[in-house]
Amino acid sequence: MDFELSTEDKMIKDLVTRFVREDLLPLEAGVMAREAEGEGLGLLPEDRARLDAKSRDMGLWGLDAPSDVGGSDLPYMSLVGVNEEMGKTVTPYTLPPDSPNLRMLMATVTEQQRVAYLAPYVAGQTISAIGISEPGAGADPAGMLTKAVRDGDDWVINGRKIWISRAADADFTILMAVTDQEKRARGGISAFLVDKGTPGFNVLRRIPMIGGAYTYEIALEDCRVEGWKLLGTEGQGFAPMQTRLGTRRIQMAAWSVGMAQRALDMIVEYAPQRKTFGMPLSERQAIQFWVAEAATKIHATRLMTYDCAWKLDQGRDVRNEISMIKWYATEMAYETVDRAMQAFGAMGMTKELPLSLMQAKLRTMRIYDGPTEIHKWVVARNLLGTRK
Ligand SMILES: Cc1cc2nc3c(=O)[nH]c(=O)nc-3n(C[C@H](O)[C@H](O)[C@H](O)COP(=O)(O)OP(=O)(O)OC[C@H]3O[C@@H](n4cnc5c(N)ncnc54)[C@H](O)[C@@H]3O)c2cc1C
Repeated sequence: MDFELSTEDKMIKDLVTRFVREDLLPLEAGVMAREAEGEGLGLLPEDRARLDAKSRDMGLWGLDAPSDVGGSDLPYMSLVGVNEEMGKTVTPYTLPPDSPNLRMLMATVTEQQRVAYLAPYVAGQTISAIGISEPGAGADPAGMLTKAVRDGDDWVINGRKIWISRAADADFTILMAVTDQEKRARGGISAFLVDKGTPGFNVLRRIPMIGGAYTYEIALEDCRVEGWKLLGTEGQGFAPMQTRLGTRRIQMAAWSVGMAQRALDMIVEYAPQRKTFGMPLSERQAIQFWVAEAATKIHATRLMTYDCAWKLDQGRDVRNEISMIKWYATEMAYETVDRAMQAFGAMGMTKELPLSLMQAKLRTMRIYDGPTEIHKWVVARNLLGTRK
């Protein structure tokens, strides 16, 4: 096995490292101060505009988008490094377009949808959301109740969605609904493109989450969607949705490596400087063990993530690997950040260091796109052959 990154992968990683260092990290103090004042986790419009312009100039848009719609078509292997670097900052900026919905669109769009949805999305002109979860169906999306029924050439959707990120702002939401009650996840769940402002797509409330993030609850009340906005094949929405979730999960593993690496770097810099009882913290075995354990686990997680990306690029079935890295990486980074907070003492409890925002982000990452227990269950089920 060759673990060397290609020259192109190294170049793109270095470019993102520079973007994070020069453009995202300097915004952190403002991001943290606004979040601490209860204004949520966000960017000022002028900062967002500047970051968009800069990252576009640097060629960092559409990294994994198809070349025929203006993307760079980079493999998953290249994106691991990109996402690891992006994970090192709490400045909430995503290089357009966000990969998971992109991959779902790439796997499903018709020519008409390619022009109307995929191309503007790749060009960074639109933002999107995904509506899967419901009040009664989260970890088990096959249990969703939202229904789409044909009416002439259209579909009429009724139901409820919750915890939907960006739902109020998104230009379109990929909405999952049951189209065959009997078949459900085995051929009875479809995906629809629902535009912002569509009558019957009603945002009920904005839900404050930990770490300054927001999600939304949505009611679908006779929400009429034109027939051509069915995404992919009727009843076959579950597989591309899983592809989408897989893309996010490998991205989350890489973010986790980046966050854990930053937390470790902070301990390594701080521990020799801070003296207690006449001795630097770096000479205490407790702290040394944290450093050694974090370095070892980060190394293991990084390799697991690259292994998964490589297999994905070869077209191999990586469902097991995706579940392994999703739970392991998020739990590993959560533990590492928690230890960094402990090493910093009271300073680690403030909102003046990025650690508490990293911890809150990781806390939510242990839930969304499948809680830890679900992914352990998937791995165990595959080994024990207990899948029904
Ligand atoms: C910040 C954030 C953003 C989100 N954004 C979106 C979004 O944009 N779109 C979207 O559709 N959804 C989104 N979600 C929802 C997310 O995907 C769900 O919260 C997640 O799938 C878990 O569903 P649930 O909350 O209903 O938990 P439940 O399904 O009620 O599960 C609760 C807990 O029970 C345990 N559990 C459940 N099943 C099992 C099992 N089989 N074995 C062992 N333990 C089990 C787990 O510990 C789990 O955490 C978001 C959530 C968060 C926190």
